[in-house]
Amino acid sequence: MKPKLKELLLASYEFEVYNPVQTKIVILHTMFFISIFMNIVFIFLHLFLTYSYSIIYINIFILSLSLYSLYILREKGQYKLAVYIGNSVFFIAFIALPMVKYGEGYTLIWTYFFAPFAIATLGAKRGLIISIFFITIVLLLTYFGMEPWLNGSFTMESYIRFALSHFVMLYIIYAIQNNSEYAEKKVEQLREKEQLEIEVLKKLAITDSLTPLYNKRFFEEIFPKQIEKSKESQVLLTFFILDLDYFKQYNDTYGHLKGDYTLIEMAKILQEVFYHNNTYLFRIGGEEFAGIFLHKNITEAHKLSKNILTTLKERKIEHHGNPDGGLLTASIGMYVKHFNDNLDCKEIYELADKALYKAKNNGRDQIKYA
Ligand code: GH3
Ligand code: MG
Ligand code: MG
Repeated sequence: MKPKLKELLLASYEFEVYNPVQTKIVILHTMFFISIFMNIVFIFLHLFLTYSYSIIYINIFILSLSLYSLYILREKGQYKLAVYIGNSVFFIAFIALPMVKYGEGYTLIWTYFFAPFAIATLGAKRGLIISIFFITIVLLLTYFGMEPWLNGSFTMESYIRFALSHFVMLYIIYAIQNNSEYAEKKVEQLREKEQLEIEVLKKLAITDSLTPLYNKRFFEEIFPKQIEKSKESQVLLTFFILDLDYFKQYNDTYGHLKGDYTLIEMAKILQEVFYHNNTYLFRIGGEEFAGIFLHKNITEAHKLSKNILTTLKERKIEHHGNPDGGLLTASIGMYVKHFNDNLDCKEIYELADKALYKAKNNGRDQIKYA
């Protein structure tokens, strides 16, 4: 994040993405720019107007380290290092300045700038501690320098005012920063919560309402993508449709509720058979299921699809309405697509559906390959 010079001058920034340290980065930029500008001005002033050469060294010290900090901040993106250098420079410089000048020339005024900078860049808690440390040193120095400094005009009364104003300032800055940090934390927590909720909603949007499988909407979305993937990775794509046999009679015999329960059971069987495969499983209609999986050899497709029917039979789900025997069975229509063939989703679906129709006509409880 690099604010432009115009943005800095107008103190208005637009961030493309939210970044928790953006305010700190902006403050660092602003402070370094101001520091560079003012120290250049002061160097000229002291050189040609006031002739305070001793102070020029301090100006050069602040100027060069401000330039360096700005460089690592903008060019190297080392935001934390810039914070530490910046704080150290201002800490040393704002104490050295009044010492060198014995408090003359309003040099004490600059001591007020340390706390806002430290708190804004180091954060409320750490900034507060370092600022108290800084102010204590300043107050000790000014206490012992009272008489000799400012030709004796810095009296006990002005000293108390000076100390009090420092602490009032510190308190206000700390309060502002602490509250904004609290608000930022809250916003961040809300954002995380929102993100989790979005994830749940996304999952819900693609999940079937009855079974744990994907729904038809996701089927339509993922099917073309899987076709592309099979072409790219040069692997086979198998698509199958599974339809339960005589399911109308199942509902008539056992009731719709039991029928629903059995559909969930069927979904679980599919998940068991394909648990180790990268397979997408769907319920695409009432008692119609589908699956898409990518694989290298054709025997894998045959083996897995046979597994579905044997596992279903092993489960021994009673179906007295089935004229072909007392157990629930299913029929499967399947198409194994070579990565070179250019059929689209609709064509593949139709081929598998035709195969399913054949399986039904051929006596059910079987797989037909298109
Ligand atoms: P076939 O062997 O030819 O497939 O005969 P079928 O009776 O299974 O016929 P079809 O495939 O047309 O089955 C549709 C029936 O599936 C109608 C309805 O009773 C049942 N069904 C569809 N959706 C649901 C559902 O969500 N829950 C339940 N319990 N039954 C459903
Ligand atoms: Mg059906
Ligand atoms: Mg059916």
